[in-house]
Amino acid sequence: MVQHKYVYFFGNGGSDGSASDRNLLGGKGAYLAEMANIHVPIPSGFTITTEVCTAYYDNNNQYPEGVKEQVKKSLKKLEEVNGTKFGDADDALLVSVRSGARISMPGMMDTVLNLGLNDITVEGLAKKSGNPRFAYDCYRRFITMFGDVVLDIDHADFEKILNAKKKELGVTLDTELDVNALKDLVSKYKIIVNKKANIDFPQDPMEQLWMAVNAVFDSWNNQRAITYRRINKIPDNWGTAVNVQTMVYGNMGNTSGTGVAFTRDPATGESRFFGEYLINAQGEDVVAGTRTPQPIETLKSTMPEVYGQLEVIYKKLELHFKDMQDIEFTIQEGKLYMLQSRTGKRTANAAINIAVDMVAEGLIDINTAVLRITPEQLDQLLHPMIDPSAKVKVIAKGLPASPGAAVGIVVFDAETAEQWVADGAKVILVRNETSPEDIGGMHVAEGILTVHGGMTSHAAVVARGMGKCCIAGCGQISINEEGQYFTINGYTVNKGDHITLNGSTGEVILGQVKLITSELSGKLDVVLEWADNIKKLKIRTNADTPNDAKIARKFGAEGIGLCRTEHMFFAEDRIEVVRQMILAGDEYARKQALIKLLPMQKKDFIGIFEAMDGYPVTIRLLDPPLHEFLPSREDAVAHLAQLKEADSSGSDKDNAGEIEVSEQLIKRIDSLHELNPMLGHRGCRLGITYPEIYAMQAEAIIEAACELAKRGKTVIPEIMIPLVGHRQELVVTKRNVMRVAELVMEKHNLKIKYQIGTMIELPRAALTADKIAKDAEFFSFGTNDLTQTTLGYSRDDAGKFLPFYIEHGILDVDPFVAIDQEGVGELMKIAVKKGRSTRPDLKIGICGEHGGESSSIEFAHRIGLDYVSCSPYRVPIARIAAAHAALKNK
Ligand code: PEP
Ligand code: MG
Repeated sequence: MVQHKYVYFFGNGGSDGSASDRNLLGGKGAYLAEMANIHVPIPSGFTITTEVCTAYYDNNNQYPEGVKEQVKKSLKKLEEVNGTKFGDADDALLVSVRSGARISMPGMMDTVLNLGLNDITVEGLAKKSGNPRFAYDCYRRFITMFGDVVLDIDHADFEKILNAKKKELGVTLDTELDVNALKDLVSKYKIIVNKKANIDFPQDPMEQLWMAVNAVFDSWNNQRAITYRRINKIPDNWGTAVNVQTMVYGNMGNTSGTGVAFTRDPATGESRFFGEYLINAQGEDVVAGTRTPQPIETLKSTMPEVYGQLEVIYKKLELHFKDMQDIEFTIQEGKLYMLQSRTGKRTANAAINIAVDMVAEGLIDINTAVLRITPEQLDQLLHPMIDPSAKVKVIAKGLPASPGAAVGIVVFDAETAEQWVADGAKVILVRNETSPEDIGGMHVAEGILTVHGGMTSHAAVVARGMGKCCIAGCGQISINEEGQYFTINGYTVNKGDHITLNGSTGEVILGQVKLITSELSGKLDVVLEWADNIKKLKIRTNADTPNDAKIARKFGAEGIGLCRTEHMFFAEDRIEVVRQMILAGDEYARKQALIKLLPMQKKDFIGIFEAMDGYPVTIRLLDPPLHEFLPSREDAVAHLAQLKEADSSGSDKDNAGEIEVSEQLIKRIDSLHELNPMLGHRGCRLGITYPEIYAMQAEAIIEAACELAKRGKTVIPEIMIPLVGHRQELVVTKRNVMRVAELVMEKHNLKIKYQIGTMIELPRAALTADKIAKDAEFFSFGTNDLTQTTLGYSRDDAGKFLPFYIEHGILDVDPFVAIDQEGVGELMKIAVKKGRSTRPDLKIGICGEHGGESSSIEFAHRIGLDYVSCSPYRVPIARIAAAHAALKNK
């Protein structure tokens, strides 16, 4: 019987896999295989597949049959290719063991280097390399990593001994430790292992290997990896692969080194080789950010030949993979090896520039370019920057590691960051350097500031991926962990003090500075135009003011999908009149108040129609319950008490009238009080019981339209009735609106084309959509209320339990953020089908918050909606998301 293949070889002599095996081999494994296939020099090795990881978890940490045997075989092949032997006393094969999931999760899982070293092979390595210092440097690093990753010993335990040694010898750098010092460290480290893990440091390389492989598989489920997956929506069942690869050494002296580079600038997208390296160092030194690396350009003069090779290789890799690559390399005594190539993480601006440039270079087509800009990246671009007119006090400058700006209060650890943010604060995480354990804190922080580390440090890479402002390598800062403050150039900044970061310049600014939203770049317009040609959905906006409407038009909105008229009622000059209307004792008094409101509403609509300049405008008639326009009961009672006190204090002023009004107000507040106002007297229920309110609004809309029509403008009003659950509700309100509209048009002797439609935001409306569509010329899904009423989760209170639900995997995502496709989505499908069965040309859109969220936009595309409507700033994001939806669902 042919055994299932669990282990794939890569390297000299060809690879078993290729780049297309990413799901099975993980990104790292698949690209290593491919690099060998296209003759890029890599150290050979093998990949244990992600299937093994999944099976390992499914079977109580047991491996499927055949895995151990296949690993043994691959190890043998590796020995043959390298001409060395695992555990050999004179010339031992040494390997790295590294994780590698389908999607790169930088620093989230574990790595062990120099595996295969023991008390005997270290001597062999010393002899063979003629460099005992190097051999023992490798051994002490190996014990540290193995101790940390495999044996769960705190890294700080090793650090402490190392620092004590440096102090004892009066040196500051690891590289200044001589062989004797390193030998001494090794024996001290072994004692630590014995003490903390209760075992002797394992000497058998095979035992070391399996312990390390287990640990890497186990690391798939460590807390930081789980958090990373949750943030990035990576399924838990993907699993990680394990790569076992021949070691090469960047720490063999001054002709050796290691580096990380990007084939284009990951911050700007500029087409230039961008990277950093460290001489005489191993990989983790660069990524950890403990030593500040040198820019890659200097390699040109220090090792011109190697730089030349690197240039040829990076160009070859980019051409082959047709995307910007993030590469890791090691130079071992003047010889160059590539350790990794993967699609490079980049800022939104860089993504746009790279995509447009690559189309111009003929590397990719337009569809690919559009697919490379994620809606989330665009979201970053719309992030704030520092108001150029603001006066700022710059107290330090670090590396501009990830652009944007952030204001917040200083915290010095990730845990506090998470707690304070949960309590409603905005924080800036300030660390000497970040490590993957900090991921949760980095995620919630507004911005990140680190003392050490370069542009490729953990903080920089992770922040860029998150679209979060970050300043790295700000060496002037000195953090006092114990005192919880940092000092810089004579300033002291305490935990809880405000600072502002400018991630685009690297400036650290004292206090709070005003932020503004950045302008969109020229190349973004190119991408958005491409997206417009691809997408099928129209993108409208939710806007209640002419100003919002203008902003949305600038961002490319093709109309207004929701104008919430109640927002106009809150304006200062209106609220008093609105209250008069609500407090009116009879219809006559109510109409008097409405007459005052009419010209104000008309003016609002004129402004919005003008801003929308011929695009359709959906105006929703009044929706919220009336009590929302009145003061709170507490305030009203307090006011009455004040009045009464003034009265009893014998003041001359007669305020009996005011007291009466105040008492009436409280009575009215009481009479409007509802236990569950969201399910109460609101929406069309108000319009039916107080028809004069909707009549006034209809009059204002058609008046505004007539006035603009007379000025030769095109106006497309769509009047929308909220919270309809029964066809008859629509019939009654529609009759009222049409009656008024006819009267107004008759008065002006004009015919305006307008539509009357309804929101679908109650399950009953969705289920009876065929009947409702008889009277509705359009549907707009109010997915906020539809989610609330379908799941029975109050949209105002669900925050009390939804985070718990998501954290514990009861729900994958917040249904108020992304449409619950299984539940709410099913109702939507029914509504679309039934609605169009009555009225085939029924126009249907979404105007709930989901209209700007990418998975919901894709869903809207799939079920055949005509448009989505979202907040003005999300319009470009929705344009891209709609194009993605069209490309992914061809
Ligand atoms: C909705 O319910 O989705 C909607 C757009 O209306 P509102 O949010 O104003 O209730
Ligand atoms: Mg609603």
